[in-house]
Amino acid sequence: MSVIKNIGAIAHGMSITLKEMFQPTVVENYPDGPGPTKGAVFQERFRGMHVLQRDENGLEKCVACFLCAAACPANCIYIEAAENTAEKRISGAERYARVYNIDYNRCIFCGYCVEACPTDAITHGHGFELATFSASALVYRKEQMLAPAPAHMGANQVFAQSELESGGVKGS
Ligand code: SF4
Ligand code: SF4
Repeated sequence: MSVIKNIGAIAHGMSITLKEMFQPTVVENYPDGPGPTKGAVFQERFRGMHVLQRDENGLEKCVACFLCAAACPANCIYIEAAENTAEKRISGAERYARVYNIDYNRCIFCGYCVEACPTDAITHGHGFELATFSASALVYRKEQMLAPAPAHMGANQVFAQSELESGGVKGS
């Protein structure tokens, strides 16, 4: 009886395999497939490369309080603080991060830095293409992580520099 039972179990298993063979393929064709990021589909809470946020005036939200660096279990955040002046204002508070580096050789994407930040200055973005052959290229500087400046600060230009230089854009 056990032989018949085993044959039945195998037949049942094979029937599931056969059924799956005719199901649609679920592989995502990265990077050429459909999707918002060339085929890569993210969950809402995916933790990718960090973004250093700006406030509604375009000033940097980071006030160089070092709480994120203190919370980081991998000790991979390096910050140098500087004072804002009347002539040169970078953040909305007294201080700003003159240097803000994250070493992605060591970051474990735990999100503790995001939770620790009192000004919501640091968040996880969806950037994930960090692979490189150079360890030094994985130390990201503030300029690489900073959110784009708003249009009134001269960023987000609609026209390419080549168009401006060639005179292809009137009034520039
Ligand atoms: S995600 Fe975690 S390991 Fe990475 S910088 Fe933030 S606190 Fe450190
Ligand atoms: S990112 Fe946030 S926690 Fe880290 S130094 Fe800046 S303000 Fe402080």
